[in-house]
Amino acid sequence: GLTSVTVIGLGMMGAALAEAFLKAGHRTTVWNRSAGKADALVAKGAIRAATAAEAVSASPLIVVCVLDYEAVDNILSPLAGLLAGRTLVNLTNGKPEQARKAAKWAAEQGANYLDGGIMAVPQMIAGPNALLLFSGSSEAFTTYQKELDVLGSGKYLGEDAGLAALYDLALLSAMYGMFGGFYHAVALVGSEKVEATAFTALVVPWLQAMMASLPLQAQAMDANVHTTDVSSLYINKIGFVNLIEASQEQGISTELVAPIQALVDRAVAEGYGADGLSRLAGLLMKPQLM
Ligand code: NDP
Repeated sequence: GLTSVTVIGLGMMGAALAEAFLKAGHRTTVWNRSAGKADALVAKGAIRAATAAEAVSASPLIVVCVLDYEAVDNILSPLAGLLAGRTLVNLTNGKPEQARKAAKWAAEQGANYLDGGIMAVPQMIAGPNALLLFSGSSEAFTTYQKELDVLGSGKYLGEDAGLAALYDLALLSAMYGMFGGFYHAVALVGSEKVEATAFTALVVPWLQAMMASLPLQAQAMDANVHTTDVSSLYINKIGFVNLIEASQEQGISTELVAPIQALVDRAVAEGYGADGLSRLAGLLMKPQLM
């Protein structure tokens, strides 16, 4: 039959994970600190574990998805002795160092450890656009790839357990950068009472067109060759003054865009004015000494 699975943590994300396993036909044991959050899943066929210890003991594959690593630690450290021979998949958002520490701890307990980053909202779990990043024990990933594929398409990044968190946070940073630019743009036109909905119809195709430049910029970054026939950092520096001053004149905050201006200015000050924007990632890897 299908592998028994345990899901620990039934918040918005954990409940979606448990539901996906249930729908795929797995015997699914669930536990949450506040027991009531298991009720809806139990009604759909999940098995309620009375304690976290019971939950861990119920399955060879244990998926944990709670608030943070401290919560993971609170739940699992008293259960160290129960983990031997099992596979722990930690889908809690965290930092690479936390993931590496958790992997080391799990190895000491004789457990296989996979760290994961969920690039999806709960509603996307088990759907075609859910991406799950994994790193850590390749044996664990190979053994349970089929089970983990129930949640979304899985991408294994390597034995270093910190990689999934690293990629996850990097992808989130790309997302927040895009959202931040969007918020500034809405505020700027909003200063003249333009509605966000109408304006967004222009933003989406614009960003899609700009997105096409990312692979080309990435090639320039890898080759560390930033000559450009698109636009120089110098011309971006001059244009940026208009963006900042217009924002101030319209009475809106420049807190999101000012740091990008500072980086463009630094690039020009360090002699890279003739280069393209692809130069900027390298500058971030070489922080300015204050
Ligand atoms: P929720 O706030 O809905 O759920 C938080 C969960 O953590 C609950 O099960 C809660 O238990 C549990 N918890 C918190 N503190 C403790 C503790 N000290 N001991 C035991 N359990 C604890 O969050 P989500 O489900 O949305 O998020 C869970 C993880 O998934 C996070 O790391 C998040 O970053 C990640 N994630 C979430 C996404 C989303 O869109 N929601 C997307 C991608 C990743 P209790 O019910 O008892 O409070």
